Amino acid sequence: MADILRKESFVLPEGVIYLDGNSLGPMPKAVAARVQGMLTDEWGEMLIRGWNAAGWMDQPSRVGQQVARIVGAEAGSVVMGDTLSLKVFQALAAAVKMVPDRRVILSDTGNFPSDLYMAEGLVGLLEQGYELRTVAPEEVLDAIDESIAVVMLTQVDYRTGRMHDMNELTKAAHAKGAVMLWDLAHSAGAVEVDLAGSNCEFAIGCTYKYLNGGPGAPAFIYVRPDLVDTIQPALSGWLGHRQPFAFDLNYKAGEGIERMRVGTPPVIQLTALEVAMDLWADVDMAQLRAASVELQEQFIAEIERDVPALTLASPRDSSVRGSQVSFRFHEGYAAMQAVIERGVIGDFRAPDIMRFGFTPLYLDSGDISAAVAIIADVMNNNLWDQDKYKVRSKVT
Ligand SMILES: *Cc1c(COP(=O)(O)O)cnc(C)c1O
Repeated sequence: MADILRKESFVLPEGVIYLDGNSLGPMPKAVAARVQGMLTDEWGEMLIRGWNAAGWMDQPSRVGQQVARIVGAEAGSVVMGDTLSLKVFQALAAAVKMVPDRRVILSDTGNFPSDLYMAEGLVGLLEQGYELRTVAPEEVLDAIDESIAVVMLTQVDYRTGRMHDMNELTKAAHAKGAVMLWDLAHSAGAVEVDLAGSNCEFAIGCTYKYLNGGPGAPAFIYVRPDLVDTIQPALSGWLGHRQPFAFDLNYKAGEGIERMRVGTPPVIQLTALEVAMDLWADVDMAQLRAASVELQEQFIAEIERDVPALTLASPRDSSVRGSQVSFRFHEGYAAMQAVIERGVIGDFRAPDIMRFGFTPLYLDSGDISAAVAIIADVMNNNLWDQDKYKVRSKVT
């Protein structure tokens, strides 16, 4: 565990125990100077020459390589850009085209709403009888039949942390002739992922959660290398064109994963992410996962020992849980606000989930015990029961 911990590499405010790195990772210390340098020396001095001279144009694939390692993807199979919601649309649009005789997109009711909304938008656009079908997470396996075109799942449930078996479900999808699309939003940088080994066709994810790329950091998309050159991008922007600077009047998809690029990359944001990803270069994901499970088990044991009002909402079996632990409490919003005011930052998800993320790069066992003591004080002394904690902010 000693090797995994690198607290000194992050900006962590005094008096804060941060259990929300699953939603927005903290800032790596090296980011501020590098971004300042990019602004001054690159944008400031180079102006438009920066696209070539500072390597801005290659950044989406370069950072994609860093992300590929963390999710067990083949080299050259991942590219960065846009936000995750757009990547859902892009991957799903490509996936349904691969199975032209079927009309059903299968997902589950534990999926993050934006993924379902984007699927609804695509279904509305396609017409022709397309349908989004959602079933309970535990019923997905049985719901995969020969009518399914695409199985679209988020591996780790954003509320409960429940984790799907990627290999098993991908195999089941393929056995029925369906295409598999995984959303790794709560997996990348949180659990061991073997994308190449899973054999899925598509994967997507974001980088502002466990990967610490900063608010608004771009998403990633993976397409299995043996079929990427057959994919017709629906978001056919100029930077996914084979020769963007030929300015042809017609779209011709670019080579390999480059075709999943759309428009001008967010260079400032990618610069921050690239620095954040440097931190991951020597992180062993198996070791990180083991440390995460250890922290979670400690948290669950101590909460259940000291805080009787909270009920575990996450799977008890750590092998089917991502890197977060959730508890239910009927006044969960107010309770979380009171806990946050005392320096333990987690978050709340409707209707009654208090959610805590575990990130072994900057949390240790002492932090867990200190956090539990504060949560116990708030809960056991009803400190949350004040009007000021019950006013809902725009972002929960
Ligand atoms: C966080 C998250 C999103 C957010 O999408 P953005 O477009 O980046 O805002 C989407 N899907 C899942 C599964 C998520 O966890």
